[in-house]
Amino acid sequence: MGKPVVIGLTGGIGSGKSTVARMFGALGVHWVDADIVAREVVEPGTPALVRIAEHFGQDILQPDGQLDRAALRTIVFKDANEREWLEALLHPAIRDELARQLQPDNYDQPYVLLVSPLLLETDQHTLTARDIVVDVPVETQIERTMRRDNNDRDQVERIIAAQMPREHRVSRADYIIRNDQPLADVEQQVRELHQELLELFQGQ
Ligand code: ADP
Repeated sequence: MGKPVVIGLTGGIGSGKSTVARMFGALGVHWVDADIVAREVVEPGTPALVRIAEHFGQDILQPDGQLDRAALRTIVFKDANEREWLEALLHPAIRDELARQLQPDNYDQPYVLLVSPLLLETDQHTLTARDIVVDVPVETQIERTMRRDNNDRDQVERIIAAQMPREHRVSRADYIIRNDQPLADVEQQVRELHQELLELFQGQ
């Protein structure tokens, strides 16, 4: 079998990306979560974390050697040059690691999923052949995120306002999973889309 095609899976915060990814996973589809990879590339011992500690000083590390994310956020929030420096370091590192994890050994499906909240906002979508958007009304998104993260409405609305607007995201989708439904119905949509993708990419 050749290399699997990469399919993107995205959606706003609380839209149900992780939930839908697990449904594909249950069908045997390998998926890689860009949020997890973004943390992995700065774990202790990584070249990126060494560079960050050289650049910002050892105080950017916690006593256990982990990156002090809050301290780093404070610095790059105040200083656009530092943010650019950090992004120039991290974006290629994240992209390379994503590309590596998206090629599992001995994999017998024709496609893999890249699950990322920033798929369409960053150049990550250049890795994908098709993009799936998980879509819910904004009010559902707010309610589910508040419940999951125990956040207040203002905080969730601010996060959503900073993300791509729903209509824009949906207009970029090749496929849409509607997640304002009972999970059993969402599973049915996932099974149907899985069949469609198998037929499209089988034998490629
Ligand atoms: P994302 O990964 O996009 O941030 P999640 O998959 O974590 O979103 O879903 C957000 C929350 O909504 C979770 O608590 C999840 O269990 C819940 N959820 C997702 N889909 C549904 C659904 N169809 N019905 C009810 N709750 C859902």
